Amino acid sequence: MKALVHDGHGNIALQERPRPALQLPTDAIVRVTRSTICTSDLHIMRGAVPNTTLGHEFVGVVEEVGADVKRFAPGDRVAVSCETFCGTCFFCERGWVNNCVQGGWELGCRIDGCQAEFVRVPFADNAFTRTPDSVSDEDALFLGDILATGWWGARLAEIEEGSSVAVIGAGPVGLATMMCAQLANPGRIIAIECDPHRAQLAKKLGLADSVIDGSAPLEEIERAMRDLTEGRGADTVVEAAGSDATFEMAWRIARPNAIVVISAMYVRDQVLPLPSMYGKNLVFKTGGVDAGSLDEVMALIEAGKIDTSCLISKRYPLNDILEAYRAFEAHEDDCLKVVITPWA
Ligand SMILES: [Zn+2]
Ligand SMILES: [Zn+2]
Repeated sequence: MKALVHDGHGNIALQERPRPALQLPTDAIVRVTRSTICTSDLHIMRGAVPNTTLGHEFVGVVEEVGADVKRFAPGDRVAVSCETFCGTCFFCERGWVNNCVQGGWELGCRIDGCQAEFVRVPFADNAFTRTPDSVSDEDALFLGDILATGWWGARLAEIEEGSSVAVIGAGPVGLATMMCAQLANPGRIIAIECDPHRAQLAKKLGLADSVIDGSAPLEEIERAMRDLTEGRGADTVVEAAGSDATFEMAWRIARPNAIVVISAMYVRDQVLPLPSMYGKNLVFKTGGVDAGSLDEVMALIEAGKIDTSCLISKRYPLNDILEAYRAFEAHEDDCLKVVITPWA
């Protein structure tokens, strides 16, 4: 089969690889019907385990299951969590599946991922959620990663009805966060984004009530936030952008006693300047998504309450995935997410 493999130094190539086989009785093999490229793939291919197939965001059809897979059978359409988790360890029992002692972020990172024709998924009973007939593959595609991240970030933010929610970054994860935040009926969602197209889109899609230009000086952004929040700052902040500037912005635009959720991934270490924020009494929550609520979010997709189709910019068959990477990384034509369709 064809698979997109990286060398750990930023080079990627489509290679002929053996079709994956079951290794453990809790494994399943999935035929990938749609996959996509995530910004974290761009980090992984420049550092993680070389010679691994990339990709961790996908849907497909179950081809084969191990003897201990009870909830799924060949032929089932499934969406798949980006995380591998046993479901029974100390962390899994508490919903912290990202920290599973037998898993965590494995697919496309430490083991072969989904930018291929087939993929082996460990702990399939936990990783899968069934895709209902009324939900298309593309409507379910982002469930296991960016939508799971949006869901998790919005939940960590403990959004109160009528409150103000600031989301930094209106890229795919930021927009997905806004979709999930809306379900908590906040009074106002404020997007901070420096790319004018992405900012406009957040507004046009009705995901953000207000938009602040993220390229403005920080003092101006703080002032604009205060103007929108009766002088206080945002009740909750979700930082989904991941730069040094947005890390600082996250705690600066928060009101005293706010919850600040850091769902972004950073290239460099960040510093919490405690003397400068003394007295603001902020709660920080950081992470690594716990992508364990797929059934719940799939039900919202099925009910029409979450629709991520607006994130899809372009489609490429697996044959052309190198071109898809180029367009995605370059934000070509304001590209948000590319969809990889099967080998043509
Ligand atoms: Zn990802
Ligand atoms: Zn576990």
